[in-house]
Amino acid sequence: MFLKVIIYARKHIKGYLCPYIIMDYKHVPVESSTERCSFDALYGLFDSHCHLEQNPDGAEEIILECKRHCMKGLISVCTGPADFEKTVKLAEVHSGFVYYAAGLHPFEGVKAMEEEIEEYINKIRDVISEGNRPKPVAIGEIGLDYTLVKSSDISKSKRNFLAFIDLANELNLPIIIHCREAYNEVIETLKSNTKQKVIFHYFNQPQFTKEILDNGWILSLPFTLSKSKIKAIFETATLDDVVLETDSPIQLGKKRVTPLSIGELVRNISNVTSFGEKEIVEKTSRNVSSVFKI
Ligand SMILES: [Zn+2]
Repeated sequence: MFLKVIIYARKHIKGYLCPYIIMDYKHVPVESSTERCSFDALYGLFDSHCHLEQNPDGAEEIILECKRHCMKGLISVCTGPADFEKTVKLAEVHSGFVYYAAGLHPFEGVKAMEEEIEEYINKIRDVISEGNRPKPVAIGEIGLDYTLVKSSDISKSKRNFLAFIDLANELNLPIIIHCREAYNEVIETLKSNTKQKVIFHYFNQPQFTKEILDNGWILSLPFTLSKSKIKAIFETATLDDVVLETDSPIQLGKKRVTPLSIGELVRNISNVTSFGEKEIVEKTSRNVSSVFKI
């Protein structure tokens, strides 16, 4: 077993490593491995929005790599009924490291039948009321996306969005928003229908920064954010207003984005602002813990 792990580690792992974890990484609890990895560039980071269950090669290896690099945790975002069971299972197996949100992506929502959505909402309620499995830390991603939705599906999209806002209100959970070409409508809908904390996922529209922050909401900055947009967002936002995400798995040309890619976003933010990398890691991770109560 020991030899196998060393061979595996040599083959797959680049960068700094904790020797203790190479020896026996599968059996190291997350808390104790964190202490032993303080020199790793990804130490203490959260990826606040990824889709582990959608990974083409399965999620296990990626989760283990994130643990080995001493990330603090991952929030896997379930986009619809088909992924729910797989997502809860990952949070169950990797309790204290993988957390999850449950929502209905606008594209999944227009494909799903009404009864299917109702059944899904009841499953989310059940997982909370039964109390023996991990509970979602947020409702999302939900929202409106007018880039590809047919005009005939718009009213269904709005109904779904409202139904899941109601669910977040009922369960007292924060809301993760997916929004494209619908910012004004999404902001107005949220203002009139919820008092829950709201996280704007994949935020790349600096012109809405002030309005979102004026409502006390949070910006989730994506791995792909350009330096000019980072700069524009931080003209208004502070580190208290943001969390970081990869939205992985994503294929960017030959590059496969995984939660481990989040370190590059930290570097990019540090390069165009006055914030140091350590400060970015500490503050954004603290924001994740406080917004999602983890
Ligand atoms: Zn997503």
